[in-house]
Amino acid sequence: MGLLSSKNALVTGSTSGIGLAIARAFAAEGANVTINGLGDAAAIEAERAAIEADFGVQCRYSGANMMNGEDVTAMIEQAEAAFGTLDILVNNAGIQHVAPIEEFPDDKWEAIIRINLVAAFYAIKAALPGMKARKWGRIINTSSAHALVASPFKSAYVSAKHGVSGLTKTVALEAAEHGVTCNSIAPGYVWTPLVEKQIPDTMKARGMTEQQVKHDVLLAAQPTKEFVTVDEIAALAVFLCSDAAKQITGATLPVDGGWTAQ
Ligand code: NAD
Repeated sequence: MGLLSSKNALVTGSTSGIGLAIARAFAAEGANVTINGLGDAAAIEAERAAIEADFGVQCRYSGANMMNGEDVTAMIEQAEAAFGTLDILVNNAGIQHVAPIEEFPDDKWEAIIRINLVAAFYAIKAALPGMKARKWGRIINTSSAHALVASPFKSAYVSAKHGVSGLTKTVALEAAEHGVTCNSIAPGYVWTPLVEKQIPDTMKARGMTEQQVKHDVLLAAQPTKEFVTVDEIAALAVFLCSDAAKQITGATLPVDGGWTAQ
């Protein structure tokens, strides 16, 4: 029996990177999982089927777009209807754009706030009533070291992630007496497509080569001089779902190789 064998989970932005690792880690502990995200339909179906085959759980896919609040609400309602409960919600979908404020495209700024922050509000709003009624729930938001410190050229992302920490604390207080915890995991640099994709823009914004961006910007932030792995983030998400973690709530927990200790 896995740690999460009677639980049903939903992870947004789980067709790739950190979200996919979290969804697989929950399934490995016996949870049924709803995955969500954008991307190639055949590749997503392969990931979904692999979760069922590898772990013997049920896995659904929702194509809800986190840009749109109504989509988010419908995704939560459908997940709850399909599995009977929604016990664990991970708000993980996120995008990034790197540019100085004066050149930051308006539509990118608003999309980052919507996907990284506003979608979490809609998902929590829809999921919390059922969790409170059942007196058990776990809400985990993937925030970032950028919830605790800033970096230049990431104004939208830093604003969204600081917002996620505020939302996390508020939800934790509102849910505290109902058996529901809400925490943020704050990764440093994790090697995923999101990090890989920002290298060209950072090269442009800072006038650097690819190697310089990796070593002088990304890993320079992390005293361990190593990227965090997706499995290290997923392991913390699993722990936060355990009963041993029931007094951890409202926290923003760094997994950042010491970045925010500096
Ligand atoms: P990723 O690009 O590998 O995955 C992002 C996921 O979000 C994908 O599944 C993508 O399809 C989904 N997504 C994007 N836009 C969406 C939309 N409009 N609707 C639905 N889904 C959408 O990135 P990742 O690095 O795994 O990032 C996951 C989370 O971790 C993000 O919130 C990110 O900000 C955070 N994070 C990442 C790092 C890092 O170094 N990689 C560091 C700190 C925080």
